[in-house]
Amino acid sequence: MTESTPISKLPVAIIGSGPVGLAAAAHVIARDMEPLVFEAGATPAAAVSAWGHIGLFSPWKYNIDQAARTLLEQAQWVEPNGDYLPTGAELVAEYLTPLAATPQLSNAIRTQTRVIAVSRVGKDRTRTLGRGDTPFLVRTQNERGSIEDHVVRAVIDASGTWETPNPLGQAGLPAIGEPEARAAGLVTSPLPDVLGRDRAQFAGRHTLVVGAGHSAANTLLALGELREAEPSTRISWAIRGTDPASVYGGGDQDGLPARGALGTRLRNLVEAGVIEVHTSVTITNVSNANPTSTSATESTSELTVTGTTRAGAVTLDVDRVVPTTGFRPDLSFLREIRVDLDPIAEAPTGLGPLIDPEFHSCGTVAPHGARLLAHPEKDFYIAGMKSYGRAPTFLMATGYEQVRSIVAAIAGDQEAAERVELVLPETGVCSADIGSSCDAPSVGAVTADSSGCCEPAPAVEAAEPESCCGEAGQPVSIGIPTGLEHGRSAHQEAQ
Ligand SMILES: Cc1cc2nc3c(=O)[nH]c(=O)nc-3n(C[C@H](O)[C@H](O)[C@H](O)COP(=O)(O)OP(=O)(O)OC[C@H]3O[C@@H](n4cnc5c(N)ncnc54)[C@H](O)[C@@H]3O)c2cc1C
Repeated sequence: MTESTPISKLPVAIIGSGPVGLAAAAHVIARDMEPLVFEAGATPAAAVSAWGHIGLFSPWKYNIDQAARTLLEQAQWVEPNGDYLPTGAELVAEYLTPLAATPQLSNAIRTQTRVIAVSRVGKDRTRTLGRGDTPFLVRTQNERGSIEDHVVRAVIDASGTWETPNPLGQAGLPAIGEPEARAAGLVTSPLPDVLGRDRAQFAGRHTLVVGAGHSAANTLLALGELREAEPSTRISWAIRGTDPASVYGGGDQDGLPARGALGTRLRNLVEAGVIEVHTSVTITNVSNANPTSTSATESTSELTVTGTTRAGAVTLDVDRVVPTTGFRPDLSFLREIRVDLDPIAEAPTGLGPLIDPEFHSCGTVAPHGARLLAHPEKDFYIAGMKSYGRAPTFLMATGYEQVRSIVAAIAGDQEAAERVELVLPETGVCSADIGSSCDAPSVGAVTADSSGCCEPAPAVEAAEPESCCGEAGQPVSIGIPTGLEHGRSAHQEAQ
């Protein structure tokens, strides 16, 4: 590309090669434009690979994008059974990796290439004249530290939220010492593979799980299983609320039997004293203990976690902290771009009311497209998990519809961009297991039918909603969405 290349001939930059970024690239190809996909990880779909041991709660039939399917079919791909619930690793192995390897996409993806800034060529965010007709400048840094600028016609930011979990401390801030403990790996990723890859970190050691959502429940159950094999394993659980019961669901009265059974298992572990629960905890400090200590009287734990409770101060000596406190978007590299975000959810303003986790679970968010996702910056969009900001209710299927509409808008096909073409079940797509929130991984894949999932609602083909959700059904849920720190609203009600 040269300075004189017409803007319409420039590539469309896509940040992130998760399910939504790759789907966006497939739609760009379908419209005879050129995608340029930047992926920070070593392989496509690096974030999904990090939680590959977790079972999805939506079956295959909701996890495959139509434009991606078209590319894959040309490559003799065999589509998985639509009713099966894959794990994250299966989603990568059987769909995302083959998709990234198609001849149309393989040369378009730059792995180990992190986007560190987005701007307009020659214009910082204060410059307005001719802005909409000026190409974007995307700055990247690769694994060797080399920085490169790319000139593109449009930008779709599908970089997810996996890399930016909410902090452990109060008021949305890290606890004192938390950044150092994270850097040392003592505060782990939000969904460590307790029974597999990360087992050595937890076996025979003391783990503190923080948070009251579905990720917490799954990690606690996995730790309980590990303890059966390694009886010296200790498990503590800290929540902001006064009672962990909201995480257990309805037990044998639960409308979804598989989910009820898992809630019952968690309750049993707590009642048997296997899991030590600390309620009303606000974590204030996390400090690396002295792991080299050999004194019999000194703690050999690696971390000391201190906090306040209604009963006074609490100090816990542990080896690992698993933070299941939700996620937030990384907006740092969008500083030179004019974005319009809901002040609470940090989602595009029009989308905020549609995704509020106090009223919506995954299946009840109305499908939406380019119009609701637009920013004052023409041809710049945030899509996928990141478009939901701090809300946890995102579904891949919704993301696929987002990027179909966004790419149509970038290509100038406003009629297609305005249509909403999503087949989304009202319930069932996100209720296979212990939770109905999108942060509701299952322990081991089961089939959709075994969880009592409903059939999909008929295909929707309608104008994009103005703002709110219309006929949303009641979310079926156990526990609390973890997109809010420690499940803010539900806990406040419980107190
Ligand atoms: C445990 C778990 C289970 C889930 N189960 C389901 C389910 O069953 N069904 C469902 O519909 N949804 C589910 N979701 C929600 C959601 O669909 C997934 O998180 C999905 O992976 C989101 O896709 P995405 O492409 O938006 O983001 P991601 O999959 O997070 O991909 C973003 C990519 O961007 C890369 N990246 C980040 N920053 C940069 C940067 N600056 N530059 C370049 N690359 C960058 C990351 O490495 C990553 O590969 C689940 C989520 C989790 C966490």
